[in-house]
This record gives sequence, structure tokens and C-alpha cells, in this order.
Amino acid sequence: MLNLVLFGPPGAGKGTQSEKLIQKYNLVHLSTGDLLRSQIAAGTELGLRAKQLMDHGLLVPDEVVIGMIENKLRENQSAPGFIFDGFPRTVLQAEALDQLLSHYQAPIATMIALVVNDEELIRRLLKRGETSGRPDDRDEATARRRVSVYNKETMPVADYYSQQGKFAAIDGIGNIDDIFQAICQKIEESRL
Ligand code: ADP
Repeated sequence: MLNLVLFGPPGAGKGTQSEKLIQKYNLVHLSTGDLLRSQIAAGTELGLRAKQLMDHGLLVPDEVVIGMIENKLRENQSAPGFIFDGFPRTVLQAEALDQLLSHYQAPIATMIALVVNDEELIRRLLKRGETSGRPDDRDEATARRRVSVYNKETMPVADYYSQQGKFAAIDGIGNIDDIFQAICQKIEESRL
């Protein structure tokens, strides 16, 4: 099994790179952002509650996303591996993920972090907002709040994996295919 965490701020390119990685390594893509947006689209109570927070650029509660991940792991027990995108976003979520994966004897192989500076992120988010229809991409104040929530609440997750010797940073600015090659190289190194 190959379990990867793709890490980085909003707008770093995690979604784009995930699509390429799932094809190459045949992994199941678990994006908590996508899972939450499908709850919103389905009009569930969980979705309604999450939307209030997401539209303001805030995180949804840990237990909500951990529960969603737990269900997906249970549903996909024969998967060759998972790529976690947008999760874990807090240290508590990272601890919960380790705990969940211990039941499957399939720990995280490595965390790949895409590094992009704040101003480039804001630019990308606002550009995506022109076409994505995502309320949290649309205005600058919300985009800035998401980047700041990331810097405060999510950055410590990098240390968590780094302490386990499972951390690789990649420059997220440049050509999409070059970035993909750099990610693949880190994955191969983690498998040696
Ligand atoms: P991006 O693609 O910009 O990184 P996502 O699609 O991953 O954003 O997430 C959008 C929003 O969904 C977040 O701003 C947050 O409100 C919520 N969300 C997604 N994943 C998590 C998580 N693991 N913990 C808490 N909230 C989350």
C-alpha cells in the first residue's frame, strides 16, 4: 500500500497534482474539501453546517472531517493506497489519521508539501474564483483568511510529519509537469 499526504496552502496546486498522482500510482483520492462540497451539493445537514464555515474561510470541526475519512477508509479497504488532499489540516487530525491507518498496517509513506508564497496564492485563488463558482475563492478577504488559517492551524502539521522523518518540500511555482516529476522523485525516494 502507498499512502501519501499532499500538503500545502489553498491554491498550491494539490488538486491538480493529485489528479496526476492517482493516475500514475492508481491511488484513491481523498479530498476532504471535495467530500464536504458534495455534502453541500446533496443538501445534508452536515453540508449545511460546513458551508457556513467554509464560505468564511474557516476550518470545519476536526471530528467531522475525521469521521468522513474514517468512512472512506472503511469503504475502500482493497485500495492500493490513498492520497490525502487537504487532510490532515490540524495536528489533531494528523494524530487521528495515524491511529486510523494503524488498523490497516499502512502508515503514511511521506508527506509532500507544495511551497508557494502567500501573494501568489491569493492571486491564484482569486483567478480560480472567476470560474470555479466557489464562494471561498471569490473575494480577497476570504482568500486571505484561508491563507492565514493555514499558516496558523495547518503549518504545524508539517512539523508533525517532519519529526517522523516523513517530509519533503517541493517548489510549487513553475511548470505543472516539472512539479509532478519532482513529486514522483520524492515518492520513489520514500519507497527505497
Ligand atoms: P483548497 O483546495 O483551497 O485547499 P479545500 O477544497 O481543500 O481548499 O477546502 C475548502 C474548505 O473546506 C476549507 O477552507 C475548510 O473550510 C474545509 N476543509 C477541507 N478540509 C478540511 C479539513 N481537513 N479540516 C477542516 N476543514 C476542512
